[in-house]
Amino acid sequence: MSGAATIALLPGDGIGPEITDEARRCLEVGMARAGRAVRFTEALIGGRAIDVTGSALPPATVEVVDGAAAVLLGAVGGPKWDAPDAKVRPEQGLLGLRKAMGVWANLRPVAPLPELADATPLKAERLAGVDLVCIRELTGGLYFGEPKGRTALDGGGVRAVDTLVYTDVEIRRVVTLAFRIAEGRRRKVTSIDKANVLESSRLWRQIATEVGRDFPGVTLEHQLVDSAAMRLITAPASFDVIVTENMFGDILTDEAAVLAGSLGLLPSASLGDGPRGLYEPIHGSAPDIAGQGIANPIGTILSAAMLARHSLDADDVARRIEAAVARTIADGYRTADLGGATSTAAMGAAVRERMA
Ligand code: NAD
Repeated sequence: MSGAATIALLPGDGIGPEITDEARRCLEVGMARAGRAVRFTEALIGGRAIDVTGSALPPATVEVVDGAAAVLLGAVGGPKWDAPDAKVRPEQGLLGLRKAMGVWANLRPVAPLPELADATPLKAERLAGVDLVCIRELTGGLYFGEPKGRTALDGGGVRAVDTLVYTDVEIRRVVTLAFRIAEGRRRKVTSIDKANVLESSRLWRQIATEVGRDFPGVTLEHQLVDSAAMRLITAPASFDVIVTENMFGDILTDEAAVLAGSLGLLPSASLGDGPRGLYEPIHGSAPDIAGQGIANPIGTILSAAMLARHSLDADDVARRIEAAVARTIADGYRTADLGGATSTAAMGAAVRERMA
């Protein structure tokens, strides 16, 4: 079909093929209803790619990704490829993909559905009105700074070092993204740092304040990461858009995931300079339930909605998918992780029925 957007579909390992199949079909239905065509090109990544080609990210996959408007990914990894002395690992596929795509921000929306309040360890009243997006800087900070490594100390002992580095450019682009996203939401950005201790955080705060001046309609607040961690549990509804550096984001996004009730429900997007993005559920390949048809596909289906919004300029399609997911849950459909017996396929079909 001419003019069709091409999506690279990378199912990966474990439950990946089961959940991406449902998400692909939901996106196809949504785009068709909007009168727009999408074409999926499947490629290998992770453990299956190692088995077939010896590489976790084969050149053929990079080629497919290069020609695509977006990437929809399942998950990678599993015990088969976990040997401590393994030379090639499935995770290398994911890291290589992020690098090849040049994505530098990871977005995780968390909007718990009221019907699932029982699935979370928090009191229902704490969850009322929670609708937030965590934006984590993905390519800078402590995980990538140089120098890093170990040196032997004279007279025995060893010293280890990691370095937390940020440039103004790296901070500005991710904070600007946070403000742009807040403009389409409740117009509030919480920038999280450790400015009372870290110089990199003081630069972060300075740049966030500068960027904020360009968005007079959006409120900016700064918060220290330790008290923000507490507030995520005690008053999560007080956040709209959170933006923070790599390691703080790594920790806080997992904490925020608890608010939703199951790992299986949460989507993510990794974005870079252009509209092209990488979309995947936040969970792993769940090898313990792979092949049984019982995995929850909602996190991947909602990732496909994010794909429509950020990479296909199809906010209407994203909203249709999200509304259908909410109705499916409200109508009582529950996969095993939510205490029910709905299969992966039945959950996907129920969402598609509600997209009509
Ligand atoms: P996991 O997220 O795969 O599973 C944790 C638990 O949550 C398991 O009990 C699993 O059954 C359950 N679960 C996860 N997703 C579910 C879903 N959609 N529906 C129902 N239940 C679900 O984490 P893990 O067990 O620590 O890791 C398993 C493998 O996945 C490892 O090889 C790990 O390296 C890999 N992993 C990959 C990614 C990724 O591809 N982005 C992320 C995390 C872990």
